[in-house]
Amino acid sequence: MFTEISKSGHEQVLYCYDQVTDLRAIIALHDTRYGMAMGATRLWPYHSEADALRDALRLSRGMTYKAACANIPVGGGKAVIIAEPSKKGRDFFHAYGRFIEQLGGRFVTGQDVNLSLEDVRIIAEKTKYVVGVTGLGGGPTVATAAGVIQGMLAAVEFRFRQSGLRGSTIAVQGVGGVGKELCMQLHAFGARLVVSDIDSAKTAEMARLTGAKIVAPAEIHSHPVEIYAPCALGAILNELTIPQIKAKIVAGSANNQLADETRDSQLLAEAGILYCPDYVINAGGLIHVYNEMIGYDEHKEKAHLGRISKTLERIFASAQSEGITTYAAAHAIGNERIRALA
Ligand code: NAD
Repeated sequence: MFTEISKSGHEQVLYCYDQVTDLRAIIALHDTRYGMAMGATRLWPYHSEADALRDALRLSRGMTYKAACANIPVGGGKAVIIAEPSKKGRDFFHAYGRFIEQLGGRFVTGQDVNLSLEDVRIIAEKTKYVVGVTGLGGGPTVATAAGVIQGMLAAVEFRFRQSGLRGSTIAVQGVGGVGKELCMQLHAFGARLVVSDIDSAKTAEMARLTGAKIVAPAEIHSHPVEIYAPCALGAILNELTIPQIKAKIVAGSANNQLADETRDSQLLAEAGILYCPDYVINAGGLIHVYNEMIGYDEHKEKAHLGRISKTLERIFASAQSEGITTYAAAHAIGNERIRALA
């Protein structure tokens, strides 16, 4: 356990257990040099505690780079709750909220996979260190989707010399909080959509609202489209899926899209697929909650979201000129900004 923690450069990992509700949570603090590590809370029925720890470590480290690339002076953290969604309840989330409160602001959290806004509001009844619950500007999912679109705009410009997304075909994998919002915004931009989700009610709704074509979850990544937008879970870019991808751009909200960061970013580059590094393109939610924390201003948030495309333009150019992957280029920019902020 300590080898894994030290390899990923973490400061602290907390294991939280509540006897009454059987809550099992892992909170990973990657970087608290600014006094605060930010990262949402994910609830997932992990196969093993080792899987949960690995997810918490990778996601929290990604948050440090996400904040750095978005020029936000906070560190990275992440919490995972090991549970079936059916275990959710008031006492369960209150117990979790008390653990967050005990950290006295070293960790600030919000909503991630399998947590609803209502769940996060219940957590907030026991701690002040929760963000993204005001509903201002539509909340983090709206901002995340808007940021992904900024990234897509930069990518089509770089890859196809194309301005705008009108007429582009885009495959969205997972139409939950972010995926649904992304589809709605892309539809308004005139894009043509292909969607998949393991929940057929969600894809049916998207077909009705946007005219999206529905494909099976096992087929979405290989569908012939221009852009593939992973908006479900991680590790979907791997040795098996990459050779099947027909899109020339991968640009989606999911965290930890690469199963193996070095190997799979290289495979994508060799296949001529422009990969928008996940922690850069999906920073909209963090930008939103940070703006909410410092005093929400819609115009400032919009300008900040717009800078996602500028950062990606820089990443694409540096990857091209230096002959490295976009993942390596993003990492270099993240490290440069971490040094500048420190
Ligand atoms: P969500 O739980 O609301 O939605 C995920 C959707 O993916 C669900 O509808 C689920 O049914 C679907 N799904 C799960 N497995 C699937 C599969 N194999 N194929 C197709 N669909 C599948 O979560 P969300 O908040 O929309 O987040 C989506 C991703 O974006 C996550 O990786 C999350 O970490 C990341 N992210 C979210 C935000 C945010 O603002 N919520 C910000 C940054 C990154």
